[in-house]
This record gives sequence, C-alpha cells and structure tokens, in this order.
Amino acid sequence: MGEATVRRVGVMGGTFDPIHTGHLVTAEEALFGFALDVVVFVPAGRPWQKEGLQVAPPEERFLMTAIATASNPAFEVSRVEIDRPGPTYTVDTLRDLKRAFAPAEMYFITGADAVLQILTWKDPERVLEEAWFIAATRPGYDLDRLEKQLPPELGRRVLTMEIPALAISSTDIRRRAREGRPIRYLVPEAVDRYIRKTGLYRGERGEVVEA
Ligand code: ATP
Ligand code: MG
Repeated sequence: MGEATVRRVGVMGGTFDPIHTGHLVTAEEALFGFALDVVVFVPAGRPWQKEGLQVAPPEERFLMTAIATASNPAFEVSRVEIDRPGPTYTVDTLRDLKRAFAPAEMYFITGADAVLQILTWKDPERVLEEAWFIAATRPGYDLDRLEKQLPPELGRRVLTMEIPALAISSTDIRRRAREGRPIRYLVPEAVDRYIRKTGLYRGERGEVVEA
C-alpha cells in the first residue's frame, strides 16, 4: 500500500459562547489561505483561562457550534475537550486530533494577540512540536511588531493571515442578547434563533461576564 496522503487539519479552539461570524470568517480564510483539508472547531470543556467566570453549559456551546458549521462540508466539530474530564489543555487536544486524522499536519488557528499566550500554556515545547500556528490579524495590524515580540522558537512555527476587520466578540453578543438588542448577522441565523428560543443569555442565565 502506498503512503496515505497527509491531511492538513486546522484546529479552531474557543469557548464559542456563542460562536459568531468572526470565528467562521477566520476559519474559512485559514482553510483557503493555507489549503487546509478541514477545520475542526473545538469548543472548550471547562476553560481554565476563564476559571471563575460564568460560561454557558458545554452541550449548548457544542450545539450552537454544530449548527453554525453544518452547512460547510470542510468544517467539523469535535467533542474532545467537552468529553475529557478535568481541565483541558491544547497540547492534549492537538495530540488527540492528530491521531484521529492521522497522518495529519496540524494548524492551530488563533487571533494574533493571543499567540504570545502559547508560551504560557502547559508544555509549550510539546505544543510547538504538534502544530503550526496561524495567527489572524486585522488589516493594518503591525505584523513586524508581532514578529519582533515572538521568541525564535515560536516565530518559526507562526504563520500569519489578514482577515477583514470584524469587531465581533462573544462578550458583546451576550450583552446584546441580554439587553434584547439585535445579534442578527453577527451570528448565523440558526444560532440567533437558538439563543432567542432558549433565552440562553437572558434572565438568570444572562449575567454578562467580561471575557
Ligand atoms: P469572548 O468575548 O467570550 O472572549 P471571543 O469572541 O473572543 O469570546 P473565543 O471563543 O474566546 O471568542 O475565541 C475563539 C478564537 O477565535 C480565539 O482564537 C480568538 O482569537 C478568535 N476570535 C475571536 N473573535 C474573533 C473575531 N472577531 N475575528 C477573528 N477571530 C476571532
Ligand atoms: Mg476571547
């Protein structure tokens, strides 16, 4: 048997509370720009970076992520972080997904501002072994500055791409939903309907927490 083709797998991690158009545009741009075969959205189980903050239940964040990505054949959603007990670390997620898609080359997609945080993660050396990093920036963002900030071992692994400026955040969407202001077009229509139908961010469930 010949060697299996290596799959180029994008990994889009996030709390997705809720998933929004900024996430989807970023994933699509990475798919196109780096000729990825698939982008796997990985809703966080119990985000350790957001310890103490109120986050919507994992199953609801998973459901919204699934309905938001359903129409794109290159998008998948993974339960690895939701099903893993205890705190979740990106290094474990990358390893699990690399095995699931083997043989695979992994590309972790993240906002440019968050790239430096990789060094604060568990096992940064292992993380850098497991994946390339695609840092999404907004047009006009100072890429030179980012590159100067990166230590060489990280810089070698970081690729960058520009995405249209999308000042959309889950924090703002939660606030809007709570206040009864529109979130239409900021999130896919099905997610908008789910949030309204369930009252996810309203009343007691809608205490807005800054991320
Ligand atoms: P919150 O406001 O709750 O922090 P968020 O909008 O930042 O939510 P996350 O789930 O924290 O969403 O983000 C997941 C990933 O998506 C991160 O890598 C983040 O940098 C990226 N991201 C978030 N918002 C955007 C956006 N508007 N455009 C591009 N990428 C984004
Ligand atoms: Mg965030």
